[in-house]
Amino acid sequence: MSLHTLHTISTAFEPTEKMPVLFLGHGSPMNAIEENEFVAGFRQAGRELPKPKAILVVSAHWETRGTQVTAMQNPRTIHDFGGFPKALFDVQYPAPGSPELAQETKNTVTKTEIGLDHAWGLDHGAWSVVKHLYPNADVPVIQMSIDHFQSPAYHYELAQELASLRKKGVLIIGSGNMVHNLRLVAWNKLNTPNFAFDWALEASDKMRQFILAGDHQALINFSALGKSFQLAIPTPEHYIPLLYALGLKTEDEPIRLFNDKAVGGSITMTSVKIG
Ligand code: ZN
Repeated sequence: MSLHTLHTISTAFEPTEKMPVLFLGHGSPMNAIEENEFVAGFRQAGRELPKPKAILVVSAHWETRGTQVTAMQNPRTIHDFGGFPKALFDVQYPAPGSPELAQETKNTVTKTEIGLDHAWGLDHGAWSVVKHLYPNADVPVIQMSIDHFQSPAYHYELAQELASLRKKGVLIIGSGNMVHNLRLVAWNKLNTPNFAFDWALEASDKMRQFILAGDHQALINFSALGKSFQLAIPTPEHYIPLLYALGLKTEDEPIRLFNDKAVGGSITMTSVKIG
């Protein structure tokens, strides 16, 4: 271990001002390379943030048994999708990892034994949005997986255990989509701005109200919220990253929505900034 590395470890996670928390609606992987209002929204969010020492992303696209964090020095860019243009497969996001933050996260969480992963990398739920926040790929990024076998309440509580990282310069990002039903996408209306089916609109309106009212319990118990939520959240992996973001909010903090629009009838890009 070099002196430089030792220095990095000893100073990496000293106290800082509390970092904001984001939930980002990532939508289509094409947002990684397209220019549109959502990308502009991500970029603007990035400009408003204090520069973090490192980023921890909870992405909808990494589900595991148990909870893992990526712990490699140089995570690969994972192109975890099919049927998109070559230009999207050509994208590399060469941000370094942070074995130090992985270890710090493992040490911080008591709810479960967090595994250190050396096989994953950055999936598109992470890189397609983080690249707009930090286009120079100069902030280390780790991912934390979603334990597929746990309840929404479990994920919300696990998120709360990450709170101390915010005061160590770590930007925590949940990346998913609040309303996300790929089976019901109106492919012929993808270019109709803000087109949403009635049920998507209803679920989205309720989510917005619960978020702004701080009614996290209702959002955790989404499966009790009826038909519109069943259609909006057919499987929970894109919704759970929102619970990670909300679990980190303290009562005194401001919360703001942006990119609050629908795409293709059955997906919302609604994103949240806390703090
Ligand atoms: Zn996705």
